[in-house]
Amino acid sequence: MATLTCSGLRKTYGDLVAVADVGFHVDEGETYGLLGPNGAGKTTTISMLVGLLRADGGTIELDGAPMHPGARDVKARVGYVPQEIALYPDLTGRENLAFFARLHRLEDAAARIDEVLEVTGLRDRADDRVDEYSGGMQRRCNIGVALLHRPRLLVLDEPTVGVDPQSRDAILAAVEDLAGSGVSVLYTTHYMEEAERLCDRVGIIDHGSLVAEGTRRELVALVGQDDSVLLEVDGSAEAVAAALAEVPEVATATASGHRVECNVARAGERLPELLAAATRDGAVVMGVTVTEPDLESVFLHVTGRALRDH
Ligand code: ATP
Repeated sequence: MATLTCSGLRKTYGDLVAVADVGFHVDEGETYGLLGPNGAGKTTTISMLVGLLRADGGTIELDGAPMHPGARDVKARVGYVPQEIALYPDLTGRENLAFFARLHRLEDAAARIDEVLEVTGLRDRADDRVDEYSGGMQRRCNIGVALLHRPRLLVLDEPTVGVDPQSRDAILAAVEDLAGSGVSVLYTTHYMEEAERLCDRVGIIDHGSLVAEGTRRELVALVGQDDSVLLEVDGSAEAVAAALAEVPEVATATASGHRVECNVARAGERLPELLAAATRDGAVVMGVTVTEPDLESVFLHVTGRALRDH
């Protein structure tokens, strides 16, 4: 069953339509990514989903039941990590977690705090004040707060914006671990690499509407672009390119120095055939790199603009 389902979500601010029509679902244990440029409507969408903002239209269901914003059971089932840090700077990480554990009336608070410190990689710094943490560590502590009450759905709003590379990696690893433990995750980002690494399915949002949705493979198939295969060869690159060009599925094959690049659909499945053709006349293949179209190309395909231009 889906943990979260929404449809027809809409929010306007005067004449500005922040969210026009957004609908998707997040299955149990699934990590769903909302990928879109700044201002696309990601924060507005999830603010409605976690009950912080009243929608002008649409429906939201949690575990199949209509969601009533602010209701106790919503708070018990959802963990929300906002973009802004919401911690007490003059308390330690452990003291912050203890404060929020009391709000949730957690019975096993001390043990749960230790678990959360472990998941977020903060155990060694647990007894330092939060204002001595780096921005990334503060973000990780904020994620810990959202995890304390073992939510079924964790909602993260661009959690890696402005954090150091080490914390970024710790955040991504923590989200991967959570997904493995059966928690449903809704993750917003404008970083294509994060959506590719973490998300089972991705919804691409632009100007307040979902413009495409699917697994990485499904989205990339929308683009209808071939994979690219780069071969490093010892021998005549021109002869290798000519041999590859004879393989029926190969669209183009070009030689440059010791390299041959060819474009072919579903390259992974065709590698044995490509290597056989490449080595037919005695050339030796020293290296092979297969590159598939990425979510950046999908965004460009469906919106006509690059994700990073915004
Ligand atoms: P970001 O990555 O910058 O957070 P986003 O995809 O989360 O972008 P939103 O913050 O949801 O986008 O904003 C969507 C649109 O709604 C933007 O044009 C924004 O300026 C506008 N908007 C958001 N909140 C308000 C508000 N309280 N009043 C007026 N306009 C708003």
